[in-house]
Amino acid sequence: MKTVTKTINNSVGWRFDNSYARLPESFFARIRPVPVCAPSVVILNHALAESLGLDLRVLSKTEAALLFSGNILPETTQPIAQAYAGHQFGSFTMLGDGRAILIGEHVTATGERFDIQFKGSGRTPFSRQGDGRAALAPMLREYIISEAIHALGIPTTRSLAVVTTGETVMREMPLPGAILTRVAASHIRVGTFEYVIRKAGAEGVRTLADYTIHRHYPELAESRNPYLALLDCVIARQASLVTQWLLVGFIHGVMNTDNMAISGETIDFGPCAFMDEFDPQTVFSSIDYHGRYSYSNQSHVAQWNLARFAETLLPLLHPEQEKALALAEESIRAFPDVFQNHWLAGMRKKLGLFTEDTGDVQLIETLLTLMHKHRADYTNSFRALASVNLPKNDLFNDPAFEAWRVQWQARLSHQSETMQMSFELMRENNPAILPRNHRVEEALTAASEGGDYTLLNRLLAAVAEPYVDAPEYDDYHVPPLPSERVQQTFCGT
Ligand code: AMP
Ligand code: MG
Repeated sequence: MKTVTKTINNSVGWRFDNSYARLPESFFARIRPVPVCAPSVVILNHALAESLGLDLRVLSKTEAALLFSGNILPETTQPIAQAYAGHQFGSFTMLGDGRAILIGEHVTATGERFDIQFKGSGRTPFSRQGDGRAALAPMLREYIISEAIHALGIPTTRSLAVVTTGETVMREMPLPGAILTRVAASHIRVGTFEYVIRKAGAEGVRTLADYTIHRHYPELAESRNPYLALLDCVIARQASLVTQWLLVGFIHGVMNTDNMAISGETIDFGPCAFMDEFDPQTVFSSIDYHGRYSYSNQSHVAQWNLARFAETLLPLLHPEQEKALALAEESIRAFPDVFQNHWLAGMRKKLGLFTEDTGDVQLIETLLTLMHKHRADYTNSFRALASVNLPKNDLFNDPAFEAWRVQWQARLSHQSETMQMSFELMRENNPAILPRNHRVEEALTAASEGGDYTLLNRLLAAVAEPYVDAPEYDDYHVPPLPSERVQQTFCGT
C-alpha cells in the first residue's frame, strides 16, 4: 500500500498544504473519506490537471481510481469536512459537509491555491440523515455544467475527475454511486460565516475574515477598514457573477447562502440549467414552488444573501452597533446599482455596442420583451443577431422586431467601430453552444443507465468551445421539442 501511495504522490505533482485545517478546530471535523469497494474512473480532466501543474497521465487506471475515490490519499493531506450553516429557501439551518471531504489545498508552482475536495466520499459528523454518498448522474451533471460555465469565461469551481464507487446509492430508486473531485478557489461560503458567528462569536468571524482576506483579497489587508472592504469586494464579485449568469441564460437553481462562495465562483450545481425559450420567471428546481430562485430573481436573492453575510461581519465593521449597521446597509444598498452597471455593460456587448447611450436600457428591454412575447430561444436569438440573414421565425418576422432592428442599426451606425467589429464583439459575447438541458439529460441517461459515455464525451467537447460555430455540432443549437423539454431538475442528488 505504501509504495502505491508514494508513486501516486510523487508522479502526479501534488503540492499540498492544509491552511484551513490550521484554523480553530470548531471550523471543521477531521475525517477521512470512507473507502469504497470497487472504484473505477469514468472521466479525468487532463486539461484542468495540466493547468494545475498535475500530470494524471502517469497514473494507471487502478491508481487513478484509488486516488480519486479517496481510497488512498496522497501524502501530506489532512482531510477535513468543513462546517457551515445556511439559509435554505430562507430558513436557517446548521449544515456542514455532509458528503464531502476537503483533502487539502494544492498550491501550484506560481503560488495559486486550490481546494481539492471529494464529493460523495462518505458520512461525516455533518451528514444528518444523509448517506454521505452521491449518485453518478448528478456528479456528471456537475462536471458538464461546471466545465461549460468555465468555457464561457465565468468564474466557477471545476471538476477534475469522476469515479464510480462500485456501490449502489438509494434514492427514489437504486443508482450507481460516484465521487466527484471538485477544484475550487476555496469552499468558504456565506454560510461558513453564518456558522462561525454562531459557533465562535465575533472573534471567530475575525479569524475567518482575516483568513479569507489573506487567501482571496490580500490587497485589502492594508485598507482602513479591511472588513468593510471585504464586504464590498464580495458584493462586487457576486454582482459580476450573477450578471454573467443572466447574460448566458443560466439559472443556478439553489442560491441558498451555503451555495454562495466568498471567492465569487459559481458553486454547487444542483437543479441548475440554461434557459431555452426566454421567460424571466423560469425555474428549474422541483422544490422551488414560489420562484425564489427563478432566472430574474437571482440578483435579488444575491443581495438578500449578501445581507446575511454583512450581518455576520457587523461586530467587525465598527465598535458601535448603530454605526456598524449603517455601514453594512450602505454597502448592501449599493448592490442593485453595481449589478445594473454590470448588466448594462454585458448587454451592450451582446448587442455589439462599444459606446454608451441613454437609450440603451430601453433598446435592450424592448428586445427582451419581444423575445419573451414570442418565447424565442434566448441563446439562438442573440447569436442570430450577428448574422447577415436572420432565420425566419416568429420573433424575427414580427414587424415590431423590424422596427426594433431599424433603431438598433441606427444606434450601431453612430459608433466609430465598423459593423464587422460589432459582429465580432457579439460573437464573443453570445455563445453558440451551451449544454442544453435535454442534451444533458440524454447524455446522463446513456452514461448512468447504459454505461455509454459517447454522448457525454461529445457534449463535453462541444461545450468546451462555446463561442465557435462548429458545423459538426450544429445539432446542439436545436432547442428541445415540446416532448423533449426538461421542466424540472431535481435536488435528490
Ligand atoms: P446541497 O443541496 O448539495 O447544497 O446540500 C445541502 C446540504 O446537505 C449540505 O450540507 C450537504 O453536505 C448535505 N447533503 C446533501 N446530500 C447529502 C447526502 N447524500 N448525505 C449527507 N449529506 C448530504
Ligand atoms: Mg451545497
